[in-house]
Amino acid sequence: MTLNAGNPAGGAAPVHNADAVYALTAGAEPAGERLDGDLRVDVAVVGGGITGLSSAYHLAKAGVRVALVEAHGFGWGASGRNGGQVNPGLKHEPAEIERTFGPELGARMVAFAFTAPDKVFQLVSEAGIACEARRTGTLRAAFSAGSVAFLERATAELQRRGMPVEWLDREAVAQATGTTRYTAAALDRRGGALNPLAYSRGLARAAAGAGARLFSHTPALSLARISDGWMLATPTGQIRAARVILGTNGYTDDLWPGLKRAVVPVFSGIIASEPLAEREAARILPGRHVLYEHESITVYYRLDAANRLLMGGRSRLQPLHGPAPFADLQRYTRRLWPFLADIRWSHGWNGQLGITMDHYPVIAAPAPGLVACIGYNGRGVAMATAMGGELARWATGTPEHALDMPVRPFTTYPFHRFWPIGAAIRIGYGRARNALGI
Ligand SMILES: Cc1cc2nc3c(=O)[nH]c(=O)nc-3n(C[C@H](O)[C@H](O)[C@H](O)COP(=O)(O)OP(=O)(O)OC[C@H]3O[C@@H](n4cnc5c(N)ncnc54)[C@H](O)[C@@H]3O)c2cc1C
Repeated sequence: MTLNAGNPAGGAAPVHNADAVYALTAGAEPAGERLDGDLRVDVAVVGGGITGLSSAYHLAKAGVRVALVEAHGFGWGASGRNGGQVNPGLKHEPAEIERTFGPELGARMVAFAFTAPDKVFQLVSEAGIACEARRTGTLRAAFSAGSVAFLERATAELQRRGMPVEWLDREAVAQATGTTRYTAAALDRRGGALNPLAYSRGLARAAAGAGARLFSHTPALSLARISDGWMLATPTGQIRAARVILGTNGYTDDLWPGLKRAVVPVFSGIIASEPLAEREAARILPGRHVLYEHESITVYYRLDAANRLLMGGRSRLQPLHGPAPFADLQRYTRRLWPFLADIRWSHGWNGQLGITMDHYPVIAAPAPGLVACIGYNGRGVAMATAMGGELARWATGTPEHALDMPVRPFTTYPFHRFWPIGAAIRIGYGRARNALGI
């Protein structure tokens, strides 16, 4: 089965991520099917972001009958509006991962997370997804003394483990970024960039092409245990399945009790400029690396295929539209590159990503035949892609202990209701630290 562009209801195509610059080149939104009545499959997936779509793709390729429901369009959530940085690793360093999860599982997690970008670029090539993917490397840059010292230790450890990571001193990082802001950076050749909306839509087409049934604009309203599995109810029909995968991350609702409280749905925002002249682009990121700052508040940026500068960072905790609300990011750009004073910002948007209590992604199995996979803590492009493969393995009978990421109970934030206050304090604190260079 293949998906057509357009709106399943037959009207005008729905405006989809209209604020994200990615829509300019992502191609039409795949319409999905319309669920009408009862459907029985082996596996049902909730959420049409990278987690859900990668799971559906891997399952369909394995010959499993799989149906996915997405409340909006495919890639509507964080997956279609993120920074498009394909970054290796987890939030924690390898030694810490091995300390926390033990040497055997920890080592598998490290291998899994640091090779996650391979899976993205392989999938893009295997499925022929046109999404401006390029493997130009990730720069992790620092300016405060504490972060530089941390980064130096971390880089030495990654190199000791044989990973392709280079240390850039002050002069080298200035050459790589066209700014004197940073004291040092680590360049990881495994990272890269893509247009995340084009990638998500391409994943949807690839999954459908492999036989997955994909239903967009179809919210899952309830999930109930039945004698031989689960029943998902939607406004227009029901799906019965032996197993269910929840991939709803920062947009998790009340479908499964308490799951929403396992992630803080922090907002991150991005502004995009009009295309820079080649001369300017070559001055700021000659190697076309993607960069994120390893500091109290993360700023991340890259150039896209048309030489637009995409600057991302923390955002006000509400949906925002257009570049105007992101004055901080505009100011910071001028601070990094004073010669870009005349840069013209054309787009601005934000979205919600999932932060967990311990900053590790969580695969939780709160009931037999049901898993939820959430909380990539800002690393979802590569990790959610790779996780889709693991979730497909789980759904096809691989024992939990044999998966490369742990299955463990989800922990809920005790004062989840108040997360916007906590997040605002955290951002204010981080900004103050960054301003002081500590
Ligand atoms: C602004 C921003 C920048 C980011 N930058 C990067 C980056 O550069 N690199 C990186 O690796 N990561 C980045 N991230 C994080 C990354 O985008 C996420 O980790 C990743 O997309 C998560 O994918 P997902 O499929 O799990 O969730 P999502 O893409 O958020 O998808 C969840 C989907 O579930 C659907 N849903 C929820 N409830 C229901 C229901 N009841 N029924 C049906 N559907 C439902 C939602 O509509 C949504 O589409 C960024 C995130 C944001 C917001």
